[in-house]
Amino acid sequence: MLTKDAGRVQRETLRKILEQNGDAEYLQNLGLGGRTDPESFKACVPLVTHKDLEPYIQRIIDGDTSPVLTGKPITSISLSSGTTQGKPKFLPFNEELVQNSMQIYTTSFAFRNRSKQVKTNGGLTATTATTNLYRSEQFKCTMEDIQSRCCSPDEVIFSPDFHQSLYCHLLCGLIYSAEVQFISSTFAHSIVHAFQMFEQVWEDLCNDIRHGVLSSRITVPSIRAAVGKLLSPNPMLADSIYKKCMGLSNWYGVIPELWPNAKYVYGIMTGSMEPYLKKLRHYAGSLPLMSADYGSSEGWIGANVNPGLPPELATFAVLPNIGYFEFIPLEKPEGQELENCASIDYIESEPVGLTEVEVGKEYEIVVTSFAGLYRYRLGDVLKVARFRNSTPELQFICRRSLLLSINIDKNTEKDLQLAVEEATKLLAAEKLEVVDFTSHVDVSTDPGHYVIFWELSSDASEEVLSSCCNCLDLAFVDAGYVSSRKVRSIGPLELRVLRRGTFQKILDHYLGLGAAVSQFKTPRFVGPSNSKVLQILCRNVIESYFSTAYGC
Ligand code: AMP
Repeated sequence: MLTKDAGRVQRETLRKILEQNGDAEYLQNLGLGGRTDPESFKACVPLVTHKDLEPYIQRIIDGDTSPVLTGKPITSISLSSGTTQGKPKFLPFNEELVQNSMQIYTTSFAFRNRSKQVKTNGGLTATTATTNLYRSEQFKCTMEDIQSRCCSPDEVIFSPDFHQSLYCHLLCGLIYSAEVQFISSTFAHSIVHAFQMFEQVWEDLCNDIRHGVLSSRITVPSIRAAVGKLLSPNPMLADSIYKKCMGLSNWYGVIPELWPNAKYVYGIMTGSMEPYLKKLRHYAGSLPLMSADYGSSEGWIGANVNPGLPPELATFAVLPNIGYFEFIPLEKPEGQELENCASIDYIESEPVGLTEVEVGKEYEIVVTSFAGLYRYRLGDVLKVARFRNSTPELQFICRRSLLLSINIDKNTEKDLQLAVEEATKLLAAEKLEVVDFTSHVDVSTDPGHYVIFWELSSDASEEVLSSCCNCLDLAFVDAGYVSSRKVRSIGPLELRVLRRGTFQKILDHYLGLGAAVSQFKTPRFVGPSNSKVLQILCRNVIESYFSTAYGC
């Protein structure tokens, strides 16, 4: 039992990570001199964020095959969510991460049972960590072991066209409906998105199944060929699907109706996925929702070993042999106890080890994985819910300093600032300035969209403002945002221009609450809980523009 002596397993894991990566240039420069104990490690290796690693990662991207950051070769690059300084975030991916993922899948499965690609200049494939994983041979074997084969052929999974791929996923899922054990996607919002599409195309899907002919909307030849092989006329199945769909009320419970043998719906449902749970529960009807594991492109961290709990209460047991973990204790300063976690100026203290964390306290996690021996600050805030033997079970609280997020997109205060800077260049020619700005995520529309509020020094023409709006939309280069915009799971960015003096009213509001002028920082993000400020903003909007940058 790994969780029995997590402290020992952690020391052992750190030793393995350091030994395997001993040749890496990054480690050699730090003066560790072959030592592998946690104390020397902490003393010699600094805590880093993505920005510190960029020069090394750039060399790997450019094709440097020497051991730069890792002992084992880097097989591809993961396109992580989020950005650093407005540029997409790349991370190394290697065989170790495949092993790491297999372990976590097998672990959480044991408890459960009952894209896009670019080539870097150096010739490595850059895609999301999940796609890197799906490509590996071992992934398929493990998935067969845990009876989790996907219904769709590889041509559909790796299709360059998101809409065609989604249509075929739905079609293949229906063809094999009797055998489907569970419905899953990495993130909950994709499942919701899939069923929103299903509502639109279900009659076409029935037709394809009835006649055994793939819809003409599928134009990618490799997909047509692969899916064509699975399709033969099946009027009985088509009739049954048609009848079931007609019998549903507003698509409630469509999943168990069409996949009678499915036992649950599975995916990441915590953190920024929580807003999708309501819609997901609607489609899932009586089926339980099971929240997936917790990890990142840097490596996996914890398995959901209490899958029976609703996603809102999900916790993740840290697997002590999957990486070396440290925790920066975070304390809320007085007066900020109730604030949105992303905007709190936490008081930090020295990182502690996995077995030293305390139940009920919050921490930022630091990961040292087999895929890179750096001490990486992930930026997530976690709370220790309980201990399972000697390893903690963590609850995901929020992404630190994350402002704008609708589904897989992640943009920070810095990203917002860079986007605004970019767009204000267009105002400079008109001798106009942005007096102040803030942002909001509007999920009352479907799909949700980003809203940027601007107060301007004087009036601007419609033409200039609509190009500023497009420019803002394009300036968010986070891979999650760009791909969601392209497939319309995030709507067009909205620029709302405010009456002059609006930010003064906001300042007055905070002063009225006892804030000091000298301490005041304009909130760069106004969440729904800050209803008073949101109200001030919304009442003072004089005009609004929607981006046309992505053609939708
Ligand atoms: P990426 O770097 O794109 O792989 O994204 C990793 C980030 O996704 C983590 O740092 C978390 O913020 C978030 N994440 C991953 N798994 C979960 C989960 N189970 N619950 C909440 N957030 C998660």
